[in-house]
Amino acid sequence: MRLSLAMMLLVCLQGAVDPKLSQAVRLFDRVWKEYFAARGESYAPPKITPFAGKGSSPCGKMNPGNAYYCEKDNTVYYDEEFLAALRLRVASDTGTSGDAAPIIAIAHELGHAVFAQMNRHSQPRGVIQQLHGYGEEKVADCLAGVLTRAASEQRYLTKGTLEEAESTMAIIGKLNSQKGHPSWRVRYNSFLSGYHNGVDACSANTIENLRYPSR
Ligand SMILES: [Zn+2]
Repeated sequence: MRLSLAMMLLVCLQGAVDPKLSQAVRLFDRVWKEYFAARGESYAPPKITPFAGKGSSPCGKMNPGNAYYCEKDNTVYYDEEFLAALRLRVASDTGTSGDAAPIIAIAHELGHAVFAQMNRHSQPRGVIQQLHGYGEEKVADCLAGVLTRAASEQRYLTKGTLEEAESTMAIIGKLNSQKGHPSWRVRYNSFLSGYHNGVDACSANTIENLRYPSR
């Protein structure tokens, strides 16, 4: 069944899960399961839980206009109206469908899940275990680039994915400019390195400047 764009937006705004997002999440779970399995490890895909308005999770209160990964219950929570609005904003900024925007936001949160699960395994992974904040955001953006590339290769996304990615990161970066978050340009560059070079580009050894720059 094909829904018109207007219908799809209406469905999103009314709270049903974006079908493209669900499709992408299934792909992303498969990508990470295979990645971990190839290393003799296992990956537990996080639950993806939309919320509307306020609520709470084991990681604290949920704030509108946000998406985050809670390691305590291995769940990605997201404000569904926020992601639907983000998509519209990206669509109007870039003249595209904006369909990559919510997918990139969730892919970034899954990057945090992957990061957390890698760090739980007994094998030490060097610097990556000591990263917090700044470096972890860059790793999550890089991993989001890897997943976005996988979704493009499956032809889940319409034209203009990289323009949408750049616009998504600029919008989120401006909303989210607290200390500890790299500037959105830096984050977009991390995203691009994962998108173009794959998961090996996202290790602590290959990502440069993982620490918050000192002034
Ligand atoms: Zn993050």
